[in-house]
Amino acid sequence: MDLSLTDEQQAVRALAADFVDRDVIPYATAWDRAESVDRAIVKRLGDLGFLGMTIPEEYGGSAGDHVAYCLVMEELGRGDTAVRGIVSVSLGLVTKPLLAHGTEAQKREWIPKLVAGEALGCFGLTEPGNGSDAGHLKTKAVRDGDDWLISGTKIFITNGTWADLALVFARTGTNEAAQGSSDGPRGITAFLVPTTAPGFQAREIKGKLGLRGQATAELVLDNVRVPASSVLGDVGQGFKIAMSTLDKGRMSVAAGCVGLMQACLDASVTYARQRDQFGKSIAHYQLVQEMLADISVDLDAARMLVWRVADLVERGQPYATAASTAKLFCSEAAVRAANNAIQVFGGYGYVDEYPVGKYLRDARVLTLYEGTSQIQKLLIGRALTGVNAF
Ligand code: FAD
Repeated sequence: MDLSLTDEQQAVRALAADFVDRDVIPYATAWDRAESVDRAIVKRLGDLGFLGMTIPEEYGGSAGDHVAYCLVMEELGRGDTAVRGIVSVSLGLVTKPLLAHGTEAQKREWIPKLVAGEALGCFGLTEPGNGSDAGHLKTKAVRDGDDWLISGTKIFITNGTWADLALVFARTGTNEAAQGSSDGPRGITAFLVPTTAPGFQAREIKGKLGLRGQATAELVLDNVRVPASSVLGDVGQGFKIAMSTLDKGRMSVAAGCVGLMQACLDASVTYARQRDQFGKSIAHYQLVQEMLADISVDLDAARMLVWRVADLVERGQPYATAASTAKLFCSEAAVRAANNAIQVFGGYGYVDEYPVGKYLRDARVLTLYEGTSQIQKLLIGRALTGVNAF
């Protein structure tokens, strides 16, 4: 693995860093307080090419490799995890599976709009009764002539109230058909559902601990009618599509964690140098330096784990376990880093005049979504032992 960045990767990172410094960081606290990012940012993210990273130019994408993609996610994560999540979900969990599994007509219809930021995507897997155990989801799709009718409820859906296109996973058969199959449950199908379809409703979930600027929603589908051409991939292959999408999605979450940790380190070092106690700056105290060193060591390790996944993806090698490893380590390390950052700031870390309290609130969800830390451990354990301990 070559750890040096190409000129192109460095240029993309610089573009993202400049955008974050000018157009994200100065507003992040206000968006957090208002519980809404400025929606105009979606188009801006599209104009800059960030919503089209790794997507071929023939669909309007900005191409680039997965290391460059992770660098952009890292920079966005440094600025505001809520903004990073908008991109991770629309690009990583909707546009990418569309590219991988869509028909030419589906790709031509949606990808150019999604990468331009003219349309936004959301990923509807989790349900009120089925989070970690997504394979037993209850949302149902039944055939009605040439159409499908979808009914059910999805919960905690990022971009939910902003989205134009929802990738919805629904039951079209029983899981029993999966006996002996290595593909997982066969009774689930992925559907591309325009959010303007009659019977589709999105209700924003307010009062989140973190990611307060992000539009997280409950989706209610009441007999939503979609044509057969809305099926993404094959009928019964939805669970496989969801899981492979999340494998790559975890790389993006992990990259966002790296950015958040970088923000924790930058803020903590600056503050430790400026804050005087007992006649000199707190940077002089070994116990303070220990906290900075702990953040820094975690940060280096986290970044290397992310780059390893990106490298495996680029080389076409299996990467699912490496992605779980990176997601587990980086999300837990991000929480540690934000906690340490608050400690360095003392009481000032507890008020949102400084950003570190937000970093902790935002970091906390990273250990929960796209598979909790426990689920990542079970995935890693299964890869090590061959035993499914779910
Ligand atoms: P549960 O599955 O009920 O888990 C509760 C606890 O039990 C956890 O600690 C879990 O680790 C543990 N647990 C469960 N099963 C096991 C087991 N077998 N062994 C050991 N421990 C276990 N979902 C989407 O589909 N799309 C989105 O865009 C999306 N965005 C989100 C945004 C936010 C802000 C949040 C909070 C969630 C989002 N989610 C999204 C949902 C998220 O992926 C789920 O919350 C997560 O998968 C956990 O499911 P759950 O909340 O039902 O918890």
